[in-house]
Amino acid sequence: MDDNYFEVPPQKLIYYIGKDSDLYQDLNEQLEVFGYNLRTFLSIDNILSNADLPAPDIILAHIPLTADNLKDDEKIKLLHQLYQKNIPIVYLSEGETLAERLQAVKMGGEAFFNLPLDTGALIDTLDNLSYSEPAEKYRVLIIDDSAFQANFFAVLLEKHGVICQLMNDPMQILQQLADFNPDLVLLDMYMPRYSGLELAKVIRQMEKFVGLPIVFLSAETDKEKQLEAMSLGGDDFLDKTINPAHFYAAISARIERYRKLRLLMTRDSLTGLNNHTLLIDRLNQELMRSVRYRSELSFIMIDIDHFKQVNDTYGHPTGDQVLKSLARLLKQRLRISDIIGRYGGEEFAVILPETAPKAALKVINELRVAFSNIRHYGGDKEFSITFSGGIAGFPGYKTAVEISDAADKALYTAKRTGRNRIVIDNK
Ligand code: GH3
Ligand code: MG
Ligand code: MG
Repeated sequence: MDDNYFEVPPQKLIYYIGKDSDLYQDLNEQLEVFGYNLRTFLSIDNILSNADLPAPDIILAHIPLTADNLKDDEKIKLLHQLYQKNIPIVYLSEGETLAERLQAVKMGGEAFFNLPLDTGALIDTLDNLSYSEPAEKYRVLIIDDSAFQANFFAVLLEKHGVICQLMNDPMQILQQLADFNPDLVLLDMYMPRYSGLELAKVIRQMEKFVGLPIVFLSAETDKEKQLEAMSLGGDDFLDKTINPAHFYAAISARIERYRKLRLLMTRDSLTGLNNHTLLIDRLNQELMRSVRYRSELSFIMIDIDHFKQVNDTYGHPTGDQVLKSLARLLKQRLRISDIIGRYGGEEFAVILPETAPKAALKVINELRVAFSNIRHYGGDKEFSITFSGGIAGFPGYKTAVEISDAADKALYTAKRTGRNRIVIDNK
C-alpha cells in the first residue's frame, strides 16, 4: 500500500491571539488531530507587523471584549485588509455577558465561546467555517438515438461544468444508471426501437430511481402526448429548440431540488454521514464495480467500546458529541472515494474501494489510534474512548450480505478478545 493513503492536506491554519499559553498548548494538541495547525500571537499587532505571514483560515481571538476596546476593533479591520479577504474570527472570552457578546459581533465575530472551552462545539464551528464540501458536479445521462442531438446538449451542459454521459443504446440503461449514478436523465421522446415513454416507465419501476428527475426532449407540441408522458412518470418537457440559457437553468433547478430531497433521505442527521440504507446501496454498487474491474474491496464495521458508559456517566449530549467526533475523524482522514456511513447507534461502517483487507487494516488501525488520543469533555471532566473494528472484503466474499456478516463476526471477535483492536476475517 502506498504510504500516502490518508488525504493529508489540506491542513487548516489557525492563529490564536491571546496570552493564555496553557490554553494554546491544549488547543494545539486537540485540534491537530482534526487537521488544524495552530500558531500563537500575543496581540493583533504581532500579526500586522509581519507581512510575510500566510493568511490564516480562521482567527481565534482571545482579547478583551470591552466596549471601549476601539483599538482592537480598528486593528481587526486592518487584518482583513492585510489579507484582502474577510478571515472568519471566533472570539474566546472569560465572561459571557450580553455586552461581551455584542462587542464580539460588532468586531466581526462569526462565533463566540466562553471559557472553559467546550472543545467539541468549537471544532464543529471551525469545521463549518473552514470546510465547505466541494460542490459535486452535476451528472446528466443523455439518451438519444441521434448522436448529433445528444452531443449538442452535452456540449451545452458541459460548458457549465456538468458531467454528461451519452447513450444511444437503451438496452444499456440499467447498467448505466447504476454505474454513472446520474442526477437527471434527459430522454429523447422518440427513438426507433423504444420510446422515451417506455424507458421512463422502466426507470420508475426501479425503487432506487423513483425520485430521479426525467426530462423529455421533444419537438412535441401535442399537449395530449405530453400529458401522457407526465402520467408515465416523466417530470417535464423541454422543447428541443429551447434557448441554451433557459435550458441550463431548467436542468440545474431540477437537479438541485432532487439533491436536497436525496440528502434528506440518505443522510444521518446527527453526523451527516450516509445512513444505513444508502451505505448498503453503495456497497452493492462498489461490489459490482469490483467484480467488473477485478479489484479488491474492504468493508469495515466499527463499534465504539463501552459507549453506554459514556451516556450513563456524562449524559446523552456528550455521547452525541463523541459520535460526531468519530464521524469527523473518518471524514477528514479518509479518501474522498471512500464511503463512510453510520450503521446505526454507535456503529459506523466504511467501504474502501480498491483496497485489500490487509491494507485496510493498516488504515483503520491508524484511525483507531488517532481516535483513542482524542480527549472528550463531559461537563468539566475529561475522558478518552476507543473503538473496535471488523474487516471483511471482496473477493473473499461475493455479496453485500456475506461481507457485512463476516465483518460483523470479526468485530465481535475484536470485542471478545479485549476491544480497542481491529480483526480481519481471514477468508
Ligand atoms: P461494547 O463495547 O460491547 O460495544 O459496549 P457498548 O456499551 O458500546 O454497547 P451497547 O450496545 O451495550 O450500548 C450501545 C449504547 O449506545 C446504548 C445506546 O444508548 C447508545 N446509543 C445509541 N445511539 C445513540 C445516539 O445516537 N446517541 C447517544 N448519545 N447514544 C446512543
Ligand atoms: Mg459499542
Ligand atoms: Mg453496538
